[in-house]
Amino acid sequence: MSRAFNFSAGPAALPEAVLLRAQSELLEWQGESASVMEISHRSKAFVALTERIESDLRRLLQVPDDYAVLFLQGGATQQFALIPQNFAAPDATADYLLTGHWGVKAQAEASPYVHANIVASDAAGKFTTLPARSTWQLTPGAAYLHVTPNETIHGVEFDETALTNLDDVAVIGDVSSTLLSRPLDVSRYAMLYGGAQKNIGAAGVTLLIIRNDLLARQPRPLAKILTYAAQAKEHSLLNTPNTFGWYLTGLVLQWIDGEGGLAAIGARNQRKAAMLYAAIDGSGGFYSNPVDPRYRSWMNVPFVLHDAGLDAAFLSESIASGLVSLKGHKAVGGMRASLYNAMPEVGVQALVDFMADFAKRKG
Ligand code: PMP
Repeated sequence: MSRAFNFSAGPAALPEAVLLRAQSELLEWQGESASVMEISHRSKAFVALTERIESDLRRLLQVPDDYAVLFLQGGATQQFALIPQNFAAPDATADYLLTGHWGVKAQAEASPYVHANIVASDAAGKFTTLPARSTWQLTPGAAYLHVTPNETIHGVEFDETALTNLDDVAVIGDVSSTLLSRPLDVSRYAMLYGGAQKNIGAAGVTLLIIRNDLLARQPRPLAKILTYAAQAKEHSLLNTPNTFGWYLTGLVLQWIDGEGGLAAIGARNQRKAAMLYAAIDGSGGFYSNPVDPRYRSWMNVPFVLHDAGLDAAFLSESIASGLVSLKGHKAVGGMRASLYNAMPEVGVQALVDFMADFAKRKG
């Protein structure tokens, strides 16, 4: 068996310890005489598991008590459409800050349900920076402000410190590619959400952290299954959930604990990103990353080679060296290295060494 260093943007690498644990419990889970996939989601054992997972998540992220934590399906993409339907009346306005591909999608998907106002966009700059706060055209009385703190394709990232003078606005963050990659001030947001398939587990589970006052909004009739408040009331067990995915998320949370919690994970993620950006910036122009250094992502590092004619060789040789999924998204081209929680520092070191060697041979 050989597992490569996997730089996939998602579904992404899982910690080996988590996969081995799941493997060891696959046939028989916790005295249930069956796997966790084969028992009722209403069983005592499974409900106890969901309670443990929720309390682990709350502790790790220090989620305040007035927030609900949900484990749903549909990915972040489904939430793009559900957020306006849950929190805004059809004639209301919601604000969208666009810093890349996913924010653009969120705004487009919300548009059938709400006036989705674009507060600011760096489309003209090809999404390489965060538009200055002074340029944001906020709507007074907006239902919410939607932001994407890490743009997975463009590699543009900002943290809570960028969200100034927004005390009266319900800020909603799509944190698909950063949630649980470092400590986060949950209270800065009215809602956070994202798929599990990058830092938190396997595809098919979507985490939502929603402040109770938002849940109390019921601006239009909506099927129960699409209503966040109804899901919160039933602890995400309104219907059959993705039981195995939920279980895997629980294993990842325990792994994060074992690694020293989010502060330790965050420090490691910062070191990994610094190592790769230093290699890019120090390559004498052989490699480059276009993002404003103030807003460079720790999680997703897009970069191009000075000569796109070398891309194919870079990719095939990197795979031969045990470094996989480095091809960039077609929207930006070149390469992208995603450095989520499960990527060890030695994996980034191996990438940096490969890049230096490749540049030496082809430069
Ligand atoms: N938002 C962001 C920031 C993402 O990175 C992704 C997936 N790459 C999505 C939304 C869409 O997520 P999903 O495929 O889970 O719907």
